Amino acid sequence: MRKVYVDNNATTRVAPEVVEEMLPFFSQDYGNPSSIHFFGGKVAQKMAEAREKVAALLGAEPTEIIFTSCGTESDNAAIFSALENYPNKKQIVTTNVEHHAILNFCKYLKEKGYLVTELSVDQDGQIDLDELRDSITDDTAIVSIMYANNETGVIFPIDEIEKIVKEKGVLFHTDAVQAVGKVPIDLSKRNIDMLSLSGHKLHAPKGIGVLYIKKGTKFSPFIIGGEQEFGKRGGTENVPYIIGLGKACEIASKDLEKEITRIKAMRDRLEKELTEKIPDIVINGGRSNRLPNTLNIGFKYVEGEAILLHLSNVGIAVSTGSACSSGSEEPSHVLKAMGVPASAIHGSIRFSLSRYNNEEDIDYIIEKLPPIIEKLREISPFSKTTMINTK
Ligand code: PLP
Repeated sequence: MRKVYVDNNATTRVAPEVVEEMLPFFSQDYGNPSSIHFFGGKVAQKMAEAREKVAALLGAEPTEIIFTSCGTESDNAAIFSALENYPNKKQIVTTNVEHHAILNFCKYLKEKGYLVTELSVDQDGQIDLDELRDSITDDTAIVSIMYANNETGVIFPIDEIEKIVKEKGVLFHTDAVQAVGKVPIDLSKRNIDMLSLSGHKLHAPKGIGVLYIKKGTKFSPFIIGGEQEFGKRGGTENVPYIIGLGKACEIASKDLEKEITRIKAMRDRLEKELTEKIPDIVINGGRSNRLPNTLNIGFKYVEGEAILLHLSNVGIAVSTGSACSSGSEEPSHVLKAMGVPASAIHGSIRFSLSRYNNEEDIDYIIEKLPPIIEKLREISPFSKTTMINTK
């Protein structure tokens, strides 16, 4: 059976070149990069090269790159640092469609007495920029707004957001976990204070992340320990994974524009053909600027889990809008925030492509999905009339 993995916003295949680059650093070049002897020196040199490769992908300086354990740590660390550095400021401004790495940390902070302002989004998944401007006060310690949404692929107008935040003289962090390696980002031309990324979304392993900290930004470490990472993140570095991430960033840098064009063409064909072949569907976030690899479709009158399982049975791996993270049964907070009707949320499926997909994968999905939807609708307990009335 053909296997088609189109769940790359959940995680990606580690590139074979990345694995190869990492392997010597487990049992051959295993020194601690902080050691002064030759074992350490070689490792420190390779780690410095990896830092340069990550910096090059982002248009940053190597000294602005701090390795962390994951995207979640980077997100937590950015907000934590802002609150530590501005102890008199108690407000965090964010949106209600962020990843739980931000939302649940903010929930925790709220319980500790901080004020969290969650900006809402419209049906296209976009925030109101005037509302953003009005929500920033003298009490705001940081604004944290994601670059691109993991479920819908909707890209926020980060340049405009950044302008508003910086005009107010407030720290700006963006969770770019889903954007790095999928769209060009040149931080040398931007005014972003902190940015998070995660290795496993761009063909490096799970368990390695980065927090970019713009030169001159006041920073207090979230993990307090040794002087690693310029004193900004304690703990002996995860050397093989850092080196793997460096390689993944080098690969992404090399042919980013070409891959964006190729992946977007496949995504657009999938969207067009499924729209033509299957009635009663909505493209969630479809009118917004989106990541080139992401397609989130709401199939009315069917359950997303049922679609997912039928697709899985024919070798196609996707995500649903209702169990987007950690097997939760809760309907997607992102689609709910966009006002997507319950009937479409429950039948929402996310396809997310990568450099390892090809046109045959798209053909296969287009062949397999329409009969699955037709069959599920035939046996669906939801008649069209009842579902239309369920908002
Ligand atoms: N932020 C976004 C937008 C994500 O999609 C994810 C992971 O899905 C994270 C943060 C968390 O990254 P990690 O899994 O590396 O902790």
